[in-house]
Amino acid sequence: MGRIRDLSEGLWSGALDPAQNHPFAPLLDVEPLGERSAFVSSFANATAFDTDGGLVLVDTGSFVLAPQVHASVRRVTERPLHTAIYTHGHVDHCFGVELYEKEQGAAARVVAHERVPARFERYVLTKGYNACINARQFRAARTWPDRFRAPDVTYATSLDVDVGGERFELRHALGETDDATWVWVPSRRIVCVGDLFIWASPNAGNPQKVQRYPREWASALRAIAELPAETMCPGHGPPIFGADRVRRALVETAELLESLVEQTLARMNEGARLDDILGTVRAPAHLIERPYLRPIYDEPEFVVRNIWRLYGGWWDGDPSHLKPARAGALAREIADLAGGANKLADRASRLASEGNLALACHLAETAWLAVPGDDAIARIRARIYAQRSSAESSLMARGVFTAASEET
Ligand SMILES: [Zn+2]
Repeated sequence: MGRIRDLSEGLWSGALDPAQNHPFAPLLDVEPLGERSAFVSSFANATAFDTDGGLVLVDTGSFVLAPQVHASVRRVTERPLHTAIYTHGHVDHCFGVELYEKEQGAAARVVAHERVPARFERYVLTKGYNACINARQFRAARTWPDRFRAPDVTYATSLDVDVGGERFELRHALGETDDATWVWVPSRRIVCVGDLFIWASPNAGNPQKVQRYPREWASALRAIAELPAETMCPGHGPPIFGADRVRRALVETAELLESLVEQTLARMNEGARLDDILGTVRAPAHLIERPYLRPIYDEPEFVVRNIWRLYGGWWDGDPSHLKPARAGALAREIADLAGGANKLADRASRLASEGNLALACHLAETAWLAVPGDDAIARIRARIYAQRSSAESSLMARGVFTAASEET
């Protein structure tokens, strides 16, 4: 077996720890998937289909790693690029088409869902914001692209594309994004699902990004599970090999999302506050322990918030939060009551040493907001957020807390 297949096997069997073999730490390699198909492991993966009519790529790489994807594809086929399909418009999936076009001296055709162009427009509008949040989420350089290769062909619900006598069935889904496409290639029994599956608890709650759609996401996974697919190529992490594994991974991911939606909606329908809901909704333990559903990227608590936002408003149900005092004014009042901001910071340190990091962060943050220029308080706050970051399992929580620990 090759490295990519070995990784898939190791993760599935439990021999490899998903946290140590993170789906966002790619192998930067390429491997055949049966005849005339190949899988490129990159930050976001790409799948290459060599057909008699030309090369078909599902996803083309990130704005940073597209040259690696291109070089990997060229290790297995020289066929000119005929069609590139974007599984969605996230910037780790849809760059690099021009590398093939330059090389072949002819345009390729890009196919994507009809909402992809609107996403690209939004990315230009929010370039600075996206650079900030991605730097925080991934601990990466603060950059964001503002030029995108727009699709040449778009569709609304479904589209079958024929290349070299083979059919590529594109289906739209609401999921991590509103512009998702999954691609079924019946002649190869391969399904490319983009970020509907990423070897981690679904990115359905990202705290810094726009709306996700967990309920519709689950139905898409159930529809894909009905196909006779032998190989599933995900947006991140290695392919899953074998019809039984593919089906199980899809159905269990759907079950996790459905359970979070069902529990959250039940409490919302009772009129509960968001805080109560966060305190009671739990991901089913047997699912969250699966090697492909661990909360190492996003996490269920964030999904609950996202469901609240999708079906409700931004207000969390606490009347004092509707038109709150400025955070600094509240912090100064609490610090005065406590006998000074230092008292809050000392108590925060004690709570942190006892492992109560959530409460420790509240008190440290309040102390810092009450006296923003106090170096000793700032150092305590930084230390507590660093400790909090190390204790978290999800990349998203770690990113936010690490950024807070570096704030001055
Ligand atoms: Zn992605």
